Amino acid sequence: MTPHRPARTANTLPRPTDPLRYLTGYSPAVLEQVRQLLASDRLASLLQQRYPDTHNIRSDKALFDYVQALKAEYLRSTEPLNKVCFDSKLHVVQHALGTHTSVSRVQGSKLKAKREIRVASLFKNVPPEFLRMIVVHELAHLKEKAHDKAFYQLCAHMEPNYHQYEFDLRLYLTHNEATGQRIWSDWSETP
Ligand SMILES: [Zn+2]
Repeated sequence: MTPHRPARTANTLPRPTDPLRYLTGYSPAVLEQVRQLLASDRLASLLQQRYPDTHNIRSDKALFDYVQALKAEYLRSTEPLNKVCFDSKLHVVQHALGTHTSVSRVQGSKLKAKREIRVASLFKNVPPEFLRMIVVHELAHLKEKAHDKAFYQLCAHMEPNYHQYEFDLRLYLTHNEATGQRIWSDWSETP
């Protein structure tokens, strides 16, 4: 007989309950507005009106080219990227804003830094503005590691509407979390 251990299944883990956690740091007035939009079911239509279309980046290859083009325009001097991909395993809650890694691996006698940008699969079905925002965010991390003033200045340099897009993306995540519904259709599920 094995010692009793409490079962730790998905059902018993604490469930996140407050969808507004994506908006931590915004003012109480803004949070109240969002709460009202959620309660009256108007958040989705507001976002859909503002962003009617989705982008057409269909594959990791297309995403790689898209990222490379932005990098060439704004961050020419940074080290080359080894890999860019959509990642379905990226947990939206922790990594909605993607991940940027610099993995060091020994190859032969050399230590090689491998630079990767992974974008959560959620971003396959979003407006072009949101994809641009997330890519700008991850690219900015090639130069600035922390989310500090220099980091956001670089983001805003690459995309002047960066802050608006990030806020609206957070609204979408809030909607997604609160209703379990997507707003934009999933191209990968259509024949
Ligand atoms: Zn970041």
